[in-house]
Formats: sequence, structure tokens, C-alpha cells
Amino acid sequence: MYREVVEATDEVRTGGLRALVAPARLGAMASDGEVPLVPHWIGGQAAAGSSGRHGDVFDPSTGQVTKHVAYASGADVDAAVAAASAAFDPWRATSLAERSRVLFRFRELLHDRTDELAAIITAEHGKVLSDARGEVARGLEVVELACGVPHLVKGGFSEGVSTQVDVYSIRQPLGVVSIISPFNFPAMVPCWFFPLAVATGNTVVLKPSEKDPSAANWLAARWAEAGLPDGVFNVVHGDKVAVDRLLEHPDVQAVSFVGSTPIARYVYETATRAGKRVQALGGAKNHMVVLPDADLDLAADSAVNAGFGSAGERCMAISAVVAVGSIADELVAKISKRVQGLAVGDGRGDADMGPLVTQAHRDKVAAYLDAGVDAGATLAVDGRDHVIDGDKAGFWLGPTLFDHVSTDMTLYTDEIFGPVLSVLRVDTYDDALALVNANPYGNGSAIFTNDGGAARRFQNEVEVGMVGINVPIPVPVSYYSFGGWKNSLFGDSHAYGTDGVHFYTRGKVVTSRWLDPSHGGLNLGFPQHD
Ligand code: NAD
Repeated sequence: MYREVVEATDEVRTGGLRALVAPARLGAMASDGEVPLVPHWIGGQAAAGSSGRHGDVFDPSTGQVTKHVAYASGADVDAAVAAASAAFDPWRATSLAERSRVLFRFRELLHDRTDELAAIITAEHGKVLSDARGEVARGLEVVELACGVPHLVKGGFSEGVSTQVDVYSIRQPLGVVSIISPFNFPAMVPCWFFPLAVATGNTVVLKPSEKDPSAANWLAARWAEAGLPDGVFNVVHGDKVAVDRLLEHPDVQAVSFVGSTPIARYVYETATRAGKRVQALGGAKNHMVVLPDADLDLAADSAVNAGFGSAGERCMAISAVVAVGSIADELVAKISKRVQGLAVGDGRGDADMGPLVTQAHRDKVAAYLDAGVDAGATLAVDGRDHVIDGDKAGFWLGPTLFDHVSTDMTLYTDEIFGPVLSVLRVDTYDDALALVNANPYGNGSAIFTNDGGAARRFQNEVEVGMVGINVPIPVPVSYYSFGGWKNSLFGDSHAYGTDGVHFYTRGKVVTSRWLDPSHGGLNLGFPQHD
């Protein structure tokens, strides 16, 4: 049983029931028992929805169910799209000056209250607080980019292309756009998309991951505080039912998706068939090539940071280190030593690494350890033996390092998305390049070397969308664009940067002639410039 409560604080208590949204005009939800419900956010109001279905939200460090999240029905999605449709005309007509003022206010709120959002992320995702703050900071960069929307949507103007004729280009918003995001960055990944979507005059329906849904509602509340009109930014929670309705809804013009490759492919195929513009970012298997002349301490630090940060639950995590030539033993020794020293525990404490997001995911990742041993890889550090500083019921798995991994093992072929790092040994740079390029994913790849010529060859020859040179996680700054190649992205547009602006707008070119008394009269020939 859900019932409406009216309050105006972040966490509302009414008769022992709590709601988890913070809008001023709250129509927030309370669920049965003591477990609060994360509601949808539609047209500036919290809404429990009509499906009667919900999912559990866990604290991964304790294993406890801390919240329920509403699962949207098709009708709930229709209501969100209707709210977004109604808000579109007035929002697109809002001046660039006013839109950027709202964005600046949103930016200030996000900046000033970063710790609050980081705590929400850690409580539902499990990543350590410093990492959660870093996630918010990277999302903030895109908000800051979007604050400059007047500059981003400037068109071109050519005076006098023909006698008395001028040509100019303008970019216009699409309408209602949807964003479907994964669990691993509950704030940053939505921020890759919605700031530019909103800034360029679109209205948004966000469907975040059902595993860590509260960050989206918190962001919706900040938009409301910043003065964004009701209906411009909506959130529906849920599973495949909600996603499928968004993919097929006739009033949704575009879909930005981030998640695993099978779902990204499905989203791309389904939504393009329904006539929508789609960018669907998928999974990854990111390599770090270490050449014999590399600084091995830098390489080892980087492999550990990029392999085990966020417990390996990053789309840009390094999961395969490719050691070239004679350095492999020394590199593996350096990585092992560092891995053994990592502190694993509750992200609210001093840990380097937290738990995995769910018990099911933890067990799936752990199964790769047995599979790796059975396949003949060398288990250099076994994460199951790691000392954990946390509640026994948490979803723990310590960091694991495998050596002598080959490309036919599931350790290598699968995106494990957990704290498991594999070392593959090859003889030459060409072998390393061939190995990386044969992989079906193409998100990011890094090379560690002090040889500028080798690095330059690598940036030219490697088949991925983002390259790091002595940088293990080359996530581009907001004014470039983020995206992979091959099975890591379906569609033509990367996220944010110039690609983001173009994805959320349509180009229009105007050819105009303001007549003077000497215009030329009838002429049925094809227009030519004279
Ligand atoms: P996921 O594919 O399981 O879920 C992503 C979204 O799709 C969620 O909102 C989820 O509710 C929805 N979804 C899940 N199953 C669905 C189905 N059958 N039909 C329709 N919708 C469905 O991904 P995840 O586990 O939340 O996130 C981890 C994955 O995301 C990893 O593969 C990771 O590499 C990828 N990821 C990629 C990038 C990138 O930039 N390329 C960034 C972050 C995460």
C-alpha cells in the first residue's frame, strides 16, 4: 500500500513511513512497513506509479534491503512522456539566457552538495566515498559545459551567397528524449546526457538503474530547486517494462543508453526500428599495454588503480594488462604487492575498495576465479583470501590477479565487471596490438611506454574510441566526447562534447532573400548563385 504525503524535506517521516525525494512541492511516497519507497518523478511530482511492482535496493556493505524502488508500468511511462511533451514547447521557447541561468543554479547546487550525493551513491552502489565524489565531479564537468549553451548552439552565417541572398544554419531541439543508464555510475552517466539535452531545449525522461535509483531523484530535486519548469526533467524507475515502453513510445524522439553490450544492441535495434535517434554505449574489455621501456612503478600503480577502483565496476576499468617482452615477471610482482595491500571495506570508512553491487553479481564474478584456475591461468592473488573490514553479510570479494591468461579463457573473453585483473604475456608490440585489435570490444585502451614513437603508432593503430598514453583511464574531458568503437557503442554519436550537442539537436539551414525592387521575376530553372 502506498499513500501520498506532503512534506518538504529530503527524508520525510510520516507515521513511521519515509519518502526519499526532496522537492519543495513534494507529493512523496511512503511504502508499507519500514522500508521507504523510491518513487518516480513525473511533471514535478513524486509518483508511486500504477504497476504495484517494486524492486529491492540494497546497501552492498551490509547486505540489507534499505529501500524499495517503484517499477513503472507502461502507463507510468506514458504519464512521464506526456509531462515531458507538455513541457517541451514552453521550454524550447525559453531564451538561451534563461536556460543557462537555470543551469548555473543547478551547477551550484550540485557543486555545493556533492557530499550529500556521494553518500547516496555509496549507500546504494558500494563504491568508496572518495570515488563517489569523483563521479559527481566528472558529471559536474558536463553541467559546466552545458552552462555555455548559447555558445554551443551557435550556427553559421554567410552573407551574400548570391545576389541579395544570405544563408545561415540553426540547431533546434528534438523534443522528448529518454536516457537509460546503468548501475555503475548512477550520477555521472545520467550527467553525460541530461545537461546538454536540457540546455539545448529538449525535455527528458530518465530511466536509471533499478539497483541504485536514489541519485536520480536527488538530481530531480536539485533541478526543481534550480527553477527548471515542471515536466522538463522526469524520472521513471523500473525494469524492461519501462525501457521497452520508452523505446517504442511514439513521442520519444531519441534514446541515449548506457549498459551492457547485449542490452545496448537490443536498445539500438528496437529504438531505431521505431524511428528514433539512438546512441547505445555498451560493455568493454579495456587493455593496458606495457612496453619494456615503461616506468614499471607507474604502470603497476596505474594497473591497480584502474583495475580495482570501484571494485572493477567501471566501463573504463583496465581488465587486461598486456606485458610485452621480458618485463612480465617484474610487473606481475609489482602489481601483486600493491593488490595485497589494498584495504577492502565499507566505502564510508577508509577503504580503498568497497563491495560489489549485489550478491548475485558478487557470486557471478567469483565464479570466474574457479573458471580461470580450471582453464590453466596462474592465480597470483586470490581475492577470496583478502581480509575484509566490513559486515559479513556485505557483497564482498577481494581483489584478484591472474597471470598467464590466454585469449581463449573466459577470464579474457568476458567482461567480468569486478575486481579481477588478468595479465597476458606477448613478445612484441605488434603482438600486443594484434591482441587488442582482435578483441570485439573497443572502448578504451592504454599504452605505457617512454617511447614517443611507439605511443604515436599505438594511438594511430589501435581500434578503440579512447586512448591513454601513460594514462590508464582516458575518460575525455567534457568538451571532447566519450564513446567506444565496435561492440562498445551502437550508433554514430558519442556522449557529450560536440557529439552530445549534435545528438540532441537537428540542423536546419535557412536561405533567405529580402527583396529589393529589382528582383528578377519568374524563373523556373534550378536555383543557381550569381
Ligand atoms: P545493464 O545492461 O544490465 O542495464 C543497463 C540499463 O538497462 C538499466 O537501466 C537496466 O534497467 C536496463 N535493462 C537491463 N536489462 C534490460 C532488458 N532485458 N531490456 C531492457 N532494459 C534492460 O547494465 P548494468 O549492469 O546496469 O551496467 C553495467 C554495464 O554497463 C557494463 O557492461 C558496463 O561496461 C556498461 N557500461 C558502459 C559504459 C560505456 O560508456 N560504454 C559506461 C558505464 C557502464
